[in-house]
Amino acid sequence: TRVVRLVRRPAGEPVPGDFALAEHPLPPLGEGQLLVRNLYMSVDPSMRGRLESTEKHYTHNFTPGSPLDGRALGIVEESRCASVPPGRYVRHQLGWREHAVLDAAATDGAGRIDPELAPLPTWLGLLGQTGFTAYVGLTRIAEVRPGDTVLVSAAAGAVGSAAGQFARLLGAERVVGTAGGPDKCAALVEEFGYDAAADYRAEPVREALARLAPDGIDVYFDNVGGAQLAAALHALRPGGRVALCGMMSQFGGERPSADLNQLIQAVLKRLTLRGFIVRDHEDLRPEFEHRVAGWLRSGEVLARETVVDGLENAAGALLSLLGGGNVGKMLVRLAP
Ligand code: NDP
Repeated sequence: TRVVRLVRRPAGEPVPGDFALAEHPLPPLGEGQLLVRNLYMSVDPSMRGRLESTEKHYTHNFTPGSPLDGRALGIVEESRCASVPPGRYVRHQLGWREHAVLDAAATDGAGRIDPELAPLPTWLGLLGQTGFTAYVGLTRIAEVRPGDTVLVSAAAGAVGSAAGQFARLLGAERVVGTAGGPDKCAALVEEFGYDAAADYRAEPVREALARLAPDGIDVYFDNVGGAQLAAALHALRPGGRVALCGMMSQFGGERPSADLNQLIQAVLKRLTLRGFIVRDHEDLRPEFEHRVAGWLRSGEVLARETVVDGLENAAGALLSLLGGGNVGKMLVRLAP
């Protein structure tokens, strides 16, 4: 099958030449295994850390000479597992290739992924790990409550566009988002229902928040860390809660050392800052799928994706994501 292979570890920022298309043999199908043809692949910021050799990560790092992997959705073409017949859609971890042989037990969604309920891309986005991350961060980590003012960073991205919409549906009174550039800020208000948007490239977020949330914020859903986290610490009200979801600003060398001085705000205001990894919260998945499917059916949430076609453009999609080239969930669609 065709795969995307890591040629070498990036020296600094990843470049197209760090990746190449290659042929990779498929193993024979063993008992309990499936042959899956991938239809959509998720492009995730966490892949950036996995390209490094030293960065400690919550899953294995990529190895030069070997294919990349990542979340994907495909259709079962052959099965040696009675409970997952051919024709079923499954999600799994062997993306960045056209076909994959996997243990049926290592897939999820068989029988649950229903293209009638929501289009296939949505099952990797709003109804997939992305939406689930937003849901876990808001409900369990930051414990959003009715009446809260909520701030979300990277708010036009996959997790952020879900978080803003969910926060409103969970009862938040005011939802403010930050994003890079005027187009994304317009999308925040016009498409994703944010009350206000701040362009962090045009204005320091601390100043924007003084204008857009003059009474302060109760919850910060942090996708970027760095200077924006420092600004949020200033805007948080006493007893405020922060869900630490990701640190986009730390890729590419912006190390937020000076911003750490702002942590004194957490002491003075008795803040709660809590990091999380979504996979530790699988017990919430049924509740999440039930509620978000309902919101999709009633049209209360909008699933938006940026879709790039073809395995040959997958590495470019990753580089684009890291540079902010996406609105909503970044996906690669493979030719049928
Ligand atoms: P996004 O769709 O949000 O894409 C990343 C976005 O980050 C870009 O679109 C860009 O938006 C923004 N960005 C890039 N560089 C910077 C920078 N230097 N400063 C500020 N923003 C920047 O990706 P996801 O929704 O998939 O992921 C969002 C976050 O959630 C990531 O930090 C990711 O690691 C994290 N995550 C955490 C999980 C967990 O279990 N804790 C699970 C899944 C994701 P813009 O143009 O607005 O700058």
